[in-house]
Amino acid sequence: MSRFDCVVFDLDGTLIDTVPLIVASHQHALRTVLGREEPEALLRAGIGRPLLEQMEGFDRERAQELFDAYRSWNHANTAAYLGRFPEVDEVVERLAASQIALGIATSKMRDAVDLAFRIEPPIVSFGAVVTIEDTVRHKPHPDPILHAIELLGSVPTRAAYVGDAASDLRAAHAAGCAAVGVTWGAASRAELEAEAPYAIAETGRELLAILLGEEP
Ligand SMILES: [Mg+2]
Repeated sequence: MSRFDCVVFDLDGTLIDTVPLIVASHQHALRTVLGREEPEALLRAGIGRPLLEQMEGFDRERAQELFDAYRSWNHANTAAYLGRFPEVDEVVERLAASQIALGIATSKMRDAVDLAFRIEPPIVSFGAVVTIEDTVRHKPHPDPILHAIELLGSVPTRAAYVGDAASDLRAAHAAGCAAVGVTWGAASRAELEAEAPYAIAETGRELLAILLGEEP
């Protein structure tokens, strides 16, 4: 039997394939506002952190302009760039069928989540969808994950948080739940391993085995 009665997921790069969209949105904002681009590895490393905070890192004075340029391009191009992870859909369906409560804790804004779900509707209904508006502090702080677990009626010791970034695993550790890394998003296996996670999954099959406590 699974030690988990509740699984909370990161959204970008974990449940839906938004990494190419995010990288292209950053490059567009950087090009049009600052006349430069940044290395893709740097942009990927920032995924999961609040957007405005990332823009302040590029240029404190022009962060709001960067933010606005990113958002308008991102929204206009979401339909063209967004992708699904078919294996993840299967995992989520199997977990739902196993009566495990499912939630999302993302640093995305609510309207961006709604847009993504209009284009790629979720395969199951998530009992909690925590967005950046819902907590004062964000990942790598534990607050969004704790909020989702509470909304799902569970406790951290019975919960897992699944994410593709180092900041996801740090937030999960801080929340006191099992930190599960996946390698199909922004970070490499080595980057995830450096955070000493509970487990790392390279495939949907592995993720399901970890979450259900079965052999892959
Ligand atoms: Mg992510």
